[in-house]
Amino acid sequence: MANTQAVVVGGGICGMVAALLLKQRFTNVVLIEQADTVGGLFCSVKDSSGAAYDMGSHIPNATGVAELDEILFADADTSSWHKIARLCSGNYFGGSWDLNSPFPDASKLPQDIYQQGCGELINHTELPESNLIYDYCANSLGVVFTESIVVPILRKLYGQDAPLKTLTMAAGLFGFTRILALPADVTATLKQLPAFDAKLGYQREADFQQRKAQDNLSEVTYYYPTTGEGIGYWVTQLQKRVERAGVEIITSERVATIAHHDKKVTSLVLANSERVLDCDFLFWSAPPFIALAAMGLTPARGQVTLRTALIFHLNFDRPLLDMQSHYLWVWDPSSAIFRLTLYPNLTGQCNHNHLSAEILCNPDEIESFTQSEIIEQLVSMGIVDPQAKCVSGETQVINNTFPVPTTEFQAVNQQNYETLSNCVDNVIVSGRFSGKCWRQAEVLIEAYESIIQATDAI
Ligand SMILES: Cc1cc2nc3c(=O)[nH]c(=O)nc-3n(C[C@H](O)[C@H](O)[C@H](O)COP(=O)(O)OP(=O)(O)OC[C@H]3O[C@@H](n4cnc5c(N)ncnc54)[C@H](O)[C@@H]3O)c2cc1C
Repeated sequence: MANTQAVVVGGGICGMVAALLLKQRFTNVVLIEQADTVGGLFCSVKDSSGAAYDMGSHIPNATGVAELDEILFADADTSSWHKIARLCSGNYFGGSWDLNSPFPDASKLPQDIYQQGCGELINHTELPESNLIYDYCANSLGVVFTESIVVPILRKLYGQDAPLKTLTMAAGLFGFTRILALPADVTATLKQLPAFDAKLGYQREADFQQRKAQDNLSEVTYYYPTTGEGIGYWVTQLQKRVERAGVEIITSERVATIAHHDKKVTSLVLANSERVLDCDFLFWSAPPFIALAAMGLTPARGQVTLRTALIFHLNFDRPLLDMQSHYLWVWDPSSAIFRLTLYPNLTGQCNHNHLSAEILCNPDEIESFTQSEIIEQLVSMGIVDPQAKCVSGETQVINNTFPVPTTEFQAVNQQNYETLSNCVDNVIVSGRFSGKCWRQAEVLIEAYESIIQATDAI
């Protein structure tokens, strides 16, 4: 076999898995990561007591693709992993918890609004076609529920000033286009119709299970490490595997220029070391505009706002009061928190009583949230015992996380993705930055299929 080299840019989960797959097809594979460690969004921190918390995505699931799952969860049958057959999530809305559903319950709204909203909801019998969240919800749930449930959630996630009517259904949606609204048996019957299936959540577990059996849907297994290292353990295992396979990992480095000729990338120059890498195949999982600029092309630009994540990691001296949920949504506008992760329930172990409370905000709003206020909210929501003391913790600020998914953001992304994919033939643009998919399993399946398709054609 001729000596061939593939270069992977971006050392998140997508880039690491791609590097392993490409190593089966190319003699050499080099992975370039700009941060000082690989893992991207999957990353953990520890506080002074040794409690581990995660900072981005953190409850990975099997993809259903055997080759991928073998890479991802090679040691899944060991005691290092807690296998979660059913992820338990609930939601806080209308001043109380529903621990059986992630979807807000419209019946908690004032009765007059609820009744008016139900009338509208029932009358929308077609699946809306709009790609805009507001329009989609208005034509699915109705304007009353859209204004009273969806709009406050959009403001919490994307900011008080977010241009609500231009937000698209693209990346970053949290599944909140479904609500609970009607009695359980009515819901189960109506959900046989596509328009109602898309907007209503099941209210009874038995109905949900029956539907899964009817549609022959396979179970998705989620995994969480029991090793006390948080999801960082997963990344460490994958990194070892990538290194064992002979992939060269270069961290704290970026690509300065990309040479291309006859619609083929031929080499790359690294920014810090000025090292030149020959390149027969490029797998790009960083933002596409960076590759275009490195190629001397002009990327499309536009107003793109990325939300800052403010995460309060907290460890208490008493058990958390919710001992079943793995994570929880806080849809109620009374709290700035949008998501809680309850680690003892994820690990199946209770050596720490720790959780993460996530807020999305503008960078200049960070100072307006304090740890004591967040703890007060957790106590008033009944998650933390009023007698509990916070014994350790960490507060993290992570800039540039979720994009505000405006039509402009989507158009710029799409244009840069297409320009890059079309100007050279030996490149795959993949991962969350490609804009093609977002969730961990979807990102990996898409990368896997693209690699098979592109390298079969070589
Ligand atoms: C805050 C947050 C929470 C999320 N939570 C979930 C969840 O709970 N479940 C779920 O399924 N999905 C979640 N997602 C979706 C997430 O997109 C996927 O889970 C997946 O992690 C994406 O992997 P990736 O490798 O494409 O991206 P990333 O993990 O972002 O990795 C990209 C890597 O590229 C590197 N990079 C960027 N630019 C350059 C450059 N110029 N040169 C070199 N390297 C570069 C970055 O440093 C990073 O390491 C979440 C996303 C965000 C933003």
